[in-house]
Amino acid sequence: MFNAAAHDAGKAAEGPAPLLSVVMPIYNEQEALPLTVERLRPILDDLGIGYEVVGVDDGSTDATPAIMQKVRQDWPQFRIVRFARNSGHQAALTAGIHRAFGDYVVSIDADLQDPPEKIPEMLSLARERNLDVVYGVRGDRGTDTAFKRRTAGAYYWLMRKLVGKKMPNQAGDFRLLSRAAVNALKAMPEHQPVYRLLVPWLGFPSGEVVYVREERVAGSTHYPLSKMVRLALDSITNFSAAPLRLATWLGMLSFVLCVALGIYTAVEYVRGETVPGWSSLFVGMLFLGAVQLICIGLLGEYVGRIYSAAQARPAYFVGYDSAEETDDGTRRVSAYAM
Ligand code: UDP
Ligand code: MG
Repeated sequence: MFNAAAHDAGKAAEGPAPLLSVVMPIYNEQEALPLTVERLRPILDDLGIGYEVVGVDDGSTDATPAIMQKVRQDWPQFRIVRFARNSGHQAALTAGIHRAFGDYVVSIDADLQDPPEKIPEMLSLARERNLDVVYGVRGDRGTDTAFKRRTAGAYYWLMRKLVGKKMPNQAGDFRLLSRAAVNALKAMPEHQPVYRLLVPWLGFPSGEVVYVREERVAGSTHYPLSKMVRLALDSITNFSAAPLRLATWLGMLSFVLCVALGIYTAVEYVRGETVPGWSSLFVGMLFLGAVQLICIGLLGEYVGRIYSAAQARPAYFVGYDSAEETDDGTRRVSAYAM
């Protein structure tokens, strides 16, 4: 279906001054937020283009909502989107990206770990090379704890295995998306998108900006181990039915073991070195175990297929259609409409 809204938004990007949206998930950042605003605002003002900052308050319970109201009073470009309750970083990102009006959308953390100074660089790279995605790639994680580095290293290793090499290593949620990429993401059916996997999955033209991950300016991380485990589980199950297949493999393994041990018990039986009843019990137990696991695996295969059917991801995004060509004939017109 040709998406007229996407078409218009894509065209607007051709003009001299695109609108930039900066999406910022904010959760209990009463110490960090004022510092972030102080550093972010001059950078955006200096860009000399229209912009908005979409601050998504993820159900903060401290002074954050009041601070956000105050910021908005003398910074009209600061938009406030408030969640009724804490719903998590990725949910806040989703709301911000879906509600942003910009031709380009940059997502950034509220704790100044992602340097806002890189935003102009991302924007000019995207405009010069007509890119749809610019990843902020962490050049150095020196300021993170050894534990965070290890777990993050393992996470990115696993994710690269699942999504494939397209995924840039160490790219978090500091990135720029074009309107076309945002529209494609909005068309994705998942309710719990994991953007750092979904965006590389789109496979749109992309570039990278390397940055140094700074230390949190104030406050402490809201990503305890439990949330990291949840992100990892969401990431794996969003992209692969492999865990469901585990039962099939285990079942096959125990079946092979059953055959081998069956031969062994038969030999022992013939040699008369067994307690009566042992052979039949042992083989029977192994056999039943294997059959059960294989059946569970079989169910898993079907559940996996139902799952990907329920996910209903679009099979393709059209990047160009000559029937939709503009006068100068240069731009991809359809903006990845489906
Ligand atoms: N955040 C959020 N909801 C949450 C947890 C975090 O919106 O439930 C925001 C937080 O305010 C920050 C960003 O997500 O802007 C990253 O969180 P944090 O800095 O705590 O994570 P870390 O950088 O330690 O991984
Ligand atoms: Mg942080």
